[in-house]
Amino acid sequence: MADRLAGRTVLVVGAGTRPSPEPDAPLGNGRAISVACAREGATVVCADLDGEAAEATAALVREAGGEAVVVEADVTDEDDVARMVAAAPGLTGVVVNAGIGRGGGLRRTSADDWDATLAVNLRGPFLVARAAVAAMVEAEQPGSLVLIGSLAGLQPGSRLPAYDASKAGLIGLCRHVALEGARRGIRANVVAPGLIDTPLGRAATAGRPSRGETPVPLGRQGDATEVAAAVVFLLSDEASYITGTTLPVDGGLALI
Ligand code: NAD
Repeated sequence: MADRLAGRTVLVVGAGTRPSPEPDAPLGNGRAISVACAREGATVVCADLDGEAAEATAALVREAGGEAVVVEADVTDEDDVARMVAAAPGLTGVVVNAGIGRGGGLRRTSADDWDATLAVNLRGPFLVARAAVAAMVEAEQPGSLVLIGSLAGLQPGSRLPAYDASKAGLIGLCRHVALEGARRGIRANVVAPGLIDTPLGRAATAGRPSRGETPVPLGRQGDATEVAAAVVFLLSDEASYITGTTLPVDGGLALI
């Protein structure tokens, strides 16, 4: 175990991974991030709408030598978000990974698809950032927030207008949190994955096979551990002078 997050408590929202029928399914981003934080010495508060998925992540955190707390909670609900933050006393790291995609092109996206997507992908991160920053300010703790966006927030990506719009909005939210948090020593950044081989990524490719044929410059999809490595860096003091940025983890996809 390394020690870049030794003594820290990190809240990961969306710490589970969507269930997969595949026996050797890859890790989702939230699970990989939780395990990577534990390997760096953090206590990890694993929050997810799917309590079983959060428990499975907590088991991997403990296997990695870390301490884990599980909170079954909905990121779109203010009271649930307050519970997540209360379960993480001494909080100095926050990762908002929960994310969904609904609808299709404009004609196949209902108003309900739009609202559901924006609720999880944008209202949720706002609620978490507001509660976490308040807790850190009150406890006079410095901190680092990492919001999991998508390359689809920077350029056309998912073919889902609600998803792309929510991930673009997340970058605006991040800039605000970074500016408001700066004078309190609180940093905020977005990590923007490209095509990542997670169960969600595989489901997206099954729904749109051309996704799997995208000519990624580095020649392959990414792994959730590669997203996690970027997140750990931004949470750690190695990134002490980095705030308000968006870091693509995309194998060069933004270049084409
Ligand atoms: P995933 O579906 O496995 O993980 C998302 C987790 O969020 C799940 O455990 C789910 O239960 C949880 N969640 C969903 N709604 C929630 C809610 N209301 N409250 C609390 N938790 C909730 O997917 P993943 O592939 O690991 O993706 C995670 C993040 O990475 C998402 O934000 C996604 O947009 C982003 N991302 C993924 C890819 C990719 O190719 N996989 C690419 C770009 C961005």
